[in-house]
Amino acid sequence: MTSATRGNLFILSAPSGAGKSSLIKALLEKHDDIKVSVSHTTRAPRPGEENGVHYHFVSVDEFKQLIDKGDFFEWAQVFENYYGTSKQAIEDQLAAGIDVFLDIDWQGARQVRELMPEVKTIFILPPSTAELEKRLNGRGQDSQEVIAGRMAEAKSESSHYNEFDYILVNDDFEQTRGELEHIVIAARLEQQAQSIRHQALIADLLK
Ligand code: GDP
Ligand code: ADP
Ligand code: 5GP
Repeated sequence: MTSATRGNLFILSAPSGAGKSSLIKALLEKHDDIKVSVSHTTRAPRPGEENGVHYHFVSVDEFKQLIDKGDFFEWAQVFENYYGTSKQAIEDQLAAGIDVFLDIDWQGARQVRELMPEVKTIFILPPSTAELEKRLNGRGQDSQEVIAGRMAEAKSESSHYNEFDYILVNDDFEQTRGELEHIVIAARLEQQAQSIRHQALIADLLK
């Protein structure tokens, strides 16, 4: 990829537990030229979550200061906590030709669509409500109270599926990972990017 080609921006949204984080992680392991934006959040770290890797964990006061400074590209309140994507988390990478994934909720997706209409948005559905609950329990990182809250939110989260460009049903993990990869590859083959990437070839063919 030449430095003249900007990276593509993707949004992955889903009800909590549908598999967003696992899918992004699997994709990143295979592709050096895809990164995930590390969000800021006011929620407490889960066991094993590292500051600066999974999230930038900040206090409510710090979060509000960042809002006032205009540092966020988008932010939203989700499950009583604040979450936000900083401008810095994405702009440098896109400019360097890296594809960037945002794991954000539907409210954030709406804001990003307004700012960058070319963003590709993907919604992940779990194969069933029962399986979603099983995965939230199986992840073993949230209290029963938190899981109950997230299950209660799952219906309203899922109701936004029709605002997204692509819908993936995450039943078989490997299949869904492959489908996600195809979306990334297809985006790289869009005419505008290819015209820049293959400028010399096209000029030669049209000589
Ligand atoms: P998960 O849904 O189980 O992965 O739980 P998380 O605590 O990691 O995420 C909680 C919610 O916040 C999810 O709906 C995320 O998509 C959303 N979220 C995470 N980061 C951001 C962000 O930077 N901006 C927005 N708008 N939403 C975010
Ligand atoms: P999210 O980031 O959307 O909240 P996670 O990626 O943390 O979801 O996935 C929730 C749990 O479900 C994790 O324990 C993960 O290993 C598991 N999981 C994800 N996708 C699948 C799948 N296709 N089949 C079975 N388990 C899955
Ligand atoms: P969790 O607390 O389980 O990590 O995340 C809960 C929800 O918050 C997920 O749906 C996740 O996608 C969303 N989320 C995480 N970071 C952001 C963010 O920066 N902005 C927005 N809008 N949502 C986020």
